[in-house]
Amino acid sequence: MCLTKEKKAAPDTATVKKSPPQHPAGDISKPYNAWIKSFDLKAFTKEIDELGERLQAEQGEADVRHLKKIVMWSNMCAFTGILTMGLNAGPLVKLLAIVSLSTWTFSRWTMIAHHTCHGGYDKIHPEKDRWNRFKFAVGSFWNRLNDWFDWMMPEAWNIEHNNRHHYCLSEMEDPDLVENNLEEIRKMDVSLPVKYLIVAINVVTWKWAYYAPNTYKELKLAGMRRRGEPIPDHVNPTDALTIRVLLAGTSYFYSLKEFVTVVAGPYLLIHFFIMPAFLLAVEYYLGLPVGSMYKTAVGNLFLAELLTNAHAFVAIVTNHAGDDMYRFRDGCKAYSGSFYLRQVLASVDFDYGSDVVDFLHGWLNYQVEHHLYPQLSMLSYQKCAPLVREICDRHGVPYVKQNVFWRVHKTVEIMVGTTSMRWFPEKEERHYLELDKEIEVEKRAAKKAKVQ
Ligand SMILES: [Zn+2]
Repeated sequence: MCLTKEKKAAPDTATVKKSPPQHPAGDISKPYNAWIKSFDLKAFTKEIDELGERLQAEQGEADVRHLKKIVMWSNMCAFTGILTMGLNAGPLVKLLAIVSLSTWTFSRWTMIAHHTCHGGYDKIHPEKDRWNRFKFAVGSFWNRLNDWFDWMMPEAWNIEHNNRHHYCLSEMEDPDLVENNLEEIRKMDVSLPVKYLIVAINVVTWKWAYYAPNTYKELKLAGMRRRGEPIPDHVNPTDALTIRVLLAGTSYFYSLKEFVTVVAGPYLLIHFFIMPAFLLAVEYYLGLPVGSMYKTAVGNLFLAELLTNAHAFVAIVTNHAGDDMYRFRDGCKAYSGSFYLRQVLASVDFDYGSDVVDFLHGWLNYQVEHHLYPQLSMLSYQKCAPLVREICDRHGVPYVKQNVFWRVHKTVEIMVGTTSMRWFPEKEERHYLELDKEIEVEKRAAKKAKVQ
């Protein structure tokens, strides 16, 4: 759950000059907010709750078999990429190598690590020592190398994504809130083409330039909060910590040296330079000039890096951005009525329905369902998407499902500042937080009655 900011004692309004509100109040009279007037939060929460419990109970062997199939597809990409990356055999082979390497990196993260780190297979996978949220890719460098080796440190990503992003979605404390993180570019006094150029550079570099340092900051922050260490007034913990901040030497949380040695350096060295070193032996065996295959492989690995950044940007950064997505002020309790409603209002689904389509989207095309029930398996999301949509339609809750490239356009417009997100009406936001308490009491009473 988010740490809500401490509330100060209310000043005497008769003597204190009123300051403008911190965030826009939202406008209930806007046509896109009409659904709120007749919306029944209690009934909606009950149905979403029941569906989640049913789906969780239905998970089993079929879900593990499905995971194994996706792992095999990912491994096939790795195998093809590694086998072809050193070949100097024309543009088609080069393209095959780059796409395979890029998709390997993408799928290992978005499908295999993502759902395992959320606990999607904790209860159902027979290999409990590996396919468990507390074991997979964490605990040692060996586990990181074997399970999920990427720019981001798995422990850091687990904090940033599984805790902060999922349980503070589109609130001020959400570390992935695009509109917030791109504030500087949105307000920058430069022409629009220059802003688009900055975004384009971001698209192909964001994993190491923004995501790896910022997730590591969240890990550091979590440690400070656990130890009760105060954060100085001049440091805003919700500000994104990027490679630019590290290079400028203005990071409060850790140094550039620490980032290089602990987080990014091992990946840079092993993935791009040590992994292709076996090709030096192949060259020697084949009598080819020294470095001919090795240099080609390193070049292809860097080109695949640009592509996998772009692929991940298209599938991930677009999940919660757009002028039709809502944002909120204060935190809410996990799995409360407000929580469920916010996950739908601040997430977008893309085309979905078959393993091939879902694989290409990295299973991020079920973002609404994934945010409602983060701990489900990939197979469960395929089953539940139409059911969630039906519940939302019946309750009048806007359920957004659009082509991913249309969402890229909407996200970029938010990034450059030509459009803005919707603020959920403040009064209703507060009212729902009050209703959550009532729902909680009723839920507990119902559970008690069931036991007796
Ligand atoms: Zn997630």
